[in-house]
Amino acid sequence: MPRVTDMKTEYVAGFENPMTTWTIHPDSDSDSESERAPESSKPNSWRNVQFLNAAGNGYGPHATTFGDIADKIPARPSLKKSCEKCGKRPDQNGSGYAGCASCKVARYCSRDCQTSHWKEHKKLCQARVKQVKREQESEAEALRTKQPFIPQATLRKWYYDNIDIVSYAIVQILELYRGRTRADLWRTHAAVIFLGGGEKGTRISTKDIGFDDGEADPLTKLMRPDRMALSSGHLEALGLGRRIIVVLVLNDWVDMALVETYDLPEEEEWAKMEKDEMWRMHIRMRDMARTMTGDSKSADPPSQVE
Ligand SMILES: [Zn+2]
Ligand SMILES: [Zn+2]
Repeated sequence: MPRVTDMKTEYVAGFENPMTTWTIHPDSDSDSESERAPESSKPNSWRNVQFLNAAGNGYGPHATTFGDIADKIPARPSLKKSCEKCGKRPDQNGSGYAGCASCKVARYCSRDCQTSHWKEHKKLCQARVKQVKREQESEAEALRTKQPFIPQATLRKWYYDNIDIVSYAIVQILELYRGRTRADLWRTHAAVIFLGGGEKGTRISTKDIGFDDGEADPLTKLMRPDRMALSSGHLEALGLGRRIIVVLVLNDWVDMALVETYDLPEEEEWAKMEKDEMWRMHIRMRDMARTMTGDSKSADPPSQVE
């Protein structure tokens, strides 16, 4: 008979609703379990903690385990980018399209697409190359003065490592669950993901970054010169109108923000999406679960569904 201990209801920092947590001991007759040193059993015991949203918020009681959360937010592999010119999608299980040799960001399905896109892409491409150069200088300066520094590549890696939770947030923030005909928020707004955690060490790695929250921000607001250097030309080059614009902001250091694009889901994926009032909680719990188990991938078997 499983034993339940340490049941308590409390407000946990970062969560809107109170939570009830408890520890389940699957088999109380297993002596080896109780004899284990606390240090070594700690990561495993976290898997036994369950959360229950007990808020009277109209959504009703909502119990989840880490396993439930993993089901709720389907694990997606790193996205293979679609063609910058024609929007064609590569085989997601294949190696993906080749990238622009200069900026290494834009991807193309063919040389024809790349050649015909160059006029459009040139400005953004050059801006990106300049940015990398500026970044190398900033990094050297930050190291010298012991100031915190986050390379764009770190943010980009975080984005692709966490594409499943980011895309789940995007669905909720930009109301994609409303369907293609009714949801057009993505044309005028960007999904802004605030990233938290992390000691402000000199060099911040992806491990120091965690999902904090997200919201839809009007693109006009993001284009204000004091927010970030986003011009309408840049947005056009990024594929605004065809793609969702995602902005990652780390600890409100707007000057270190990363602008990424997210391909619009296919029609049939669109239809499967759901409105989830609890999405922030699910995502944070998932993030927490990953941190606690000390492994960002093994908790989520790769999804074979496509
Ligand atoms: Zn193409
Ligand atoms: Zn380029």
